[in-house]
Amino acid sequence: MRAVLLGPPGAGKGTQAALLAERWGIPTISTGDIFRANIKGQTELGRKAQEYTNAGTLVPDEITNAMVRDRLAQDDVVDGFLLDGYPRNPDQAVELDSMLADLGVELNAAIEITADSEVVIERLLKRAEIEGRADDTEPVIRKRLEVYATSTAPLTAFYAGRGLLVQADGIGEVAEVTERIVGAVEAH
Ligand code: AMP
Repeated sequence: MRAVLLGPPGAGKGTQAALLAERWGIPTISTGDIFRANIKGQTELGRKAQEYTNAGTLVPDEITNAMVRDRLAQDDVVDGFLLDGYPRNPDQAVELDSMLADLGVELNAAIEITADSEVVIERLLKRAEIEGRADDTEPVIRKRLEVYATSTAPLTAFYAGRGLLVQADGIGEVAEVTERIVGAVEAH
């Protein structure tokens, strides 16, 4: 399985990515997690990414693409992977195609977890209380949703055009949503 996960912030991508990866026995690559780990560790990459993640805007493509290219070259992803949070715009999607072509592999699915904006705002504000993420404040959440609508949402049409899009409703109990996604992918 080689798949990308799409869906607005707060749709449950991170949670579902971990469960799906376990189910399918493949690693998850979360660009947001990699940025957060680097910010916490005060690395050069973290220093470059922080101003963007704090503002809810996209880290520049040249930084993000290079980071994903390095990650996809590692041994543990040869038999499959689930990308969570990448690609985030059409240029990244084209770059991902080039990385996969260089590795001689192809995507099997682009899984979109759908959720209504009001529901995701509520979920993210709740997560802010628990995890204390710097970008889970209401103005930054609204900015992230706007960036999703403008830059990332067009990817659903891009992957649908290639017959790769699988959609699943992200509203409901965590386990129920996982089964919905697995069912949709199997039916695909
Ligand atoms: P996430 O955890 O996926 O919500 O990502 C948190 C933040 O990391 C985003 O708001 C962006 O600032 C940054 N980020 C994550 N993935 C990407 C990406 N593919 N391209 C650019 N920025 C990203």
